[in-house]
Amino acid sequence: MAQSYRGRFAPSPTGPLHFGSLLSALASYLDARANAGTWLVRLEDVDGTRCAPENHASIIHTLESYHLISDEEILIQSDRTDLYEHYLDQLRAQQQVYPCNCTRADLKAFGGLHSKRCDSSTDKPHSWRAQCDQGQYQYLDPIQGTQTFDLALDRNHPVLKRKDDYFSYQLAVVVDDHLQNITDIVRGADLLDTTGQQLWLYDQFGWQAPSLCHLPLIVNSVGDKISKQNHAKAIANGDLATLKAALSYLGYPNIPSALVTIETLLKWAVTHWSRTLPKAGNLPLAPEDQHFI
Ligand code: GLU
Repeated sequence: MAQSYRGRFAPSPTGPLHFGSLLSALASYLDARANAGTWLVRLEDVDGTRCAPENHASIIHTLESYHLISDEEILIQSDRTDLYEHYLDQLRAQQQVYPCNCTRADLKAFGGLHSKRCDSSTDKPHSWRAQCDQGQYQYLDPIQGTQTFDLALDRNHPVLKRKDDYFSYQLAVVVDDHLQNITDIVRGADLLDTTGQQLWLYDQFGWQAPSLCHLPLIVNSVGDKISKQNHAKAIANGDLATLKAALSYLGYPNIPSALVTIETLLKWAVTHWSRTLPKAGNLPLAPEDQHFI
């Protein structure tokens, strides 16, 4: 019997919710509801240098104002570091990670990538890197088309635990998606870059990866991704116009003007959802300085 659908929205609380994050939250929610599934929210705050606890409440409050409410308790990754250590131990035992004591200057000399030539001494401060030299993965992304990853061609060995003891997003996201039995992930295409490394991790743990769907990104007029790093604005709470704008960015044509509550709009959007709606070709050009790629 097929596993029942479980989806999630997993923001990193580095700032308040912005329009790009609302799109990921909405699309993952609509996909879950259209499949009669469960939808979860998880706060990915493993990077203690960038995530602030005050953003937790603000993100959850904004989601709730759009009726996007987690069906189960919201997991907070900073409470789960013992678990990540446990799975890192498994990779250590399988000799799939190694200690790295490269400095920023060492990495800079290799264009920011790992030289794979550091002395791996654990006497000095060190991170733990994945020894992901091999692995070929392919999946059909409903929006982005067939995605192929060949780790032998990828010159990088990602850090799974940093020198300052913070775990990386890569390890935490795979462990939690697996432990929460997530079957379907709908998220932004900015995460495609690291998807191959995540598939490698699933492989090393012997876990089945969820099905993956990556939304087109919103960029501004100079082609930069709309994100907290480049000062994307926080969105207003419970604002009908923002919700309608988000639905039209997701590719919904002709949103009925008679729908004037968040509840009725969401219900209508669930019935009309399809994973291929947000394909770049269907997307309307955004007003002023924002458009999709
Ligand atoms: N926490 C990640 C972010 O906010 C997203 C994780 C994911 O959806 O896989 O960029």
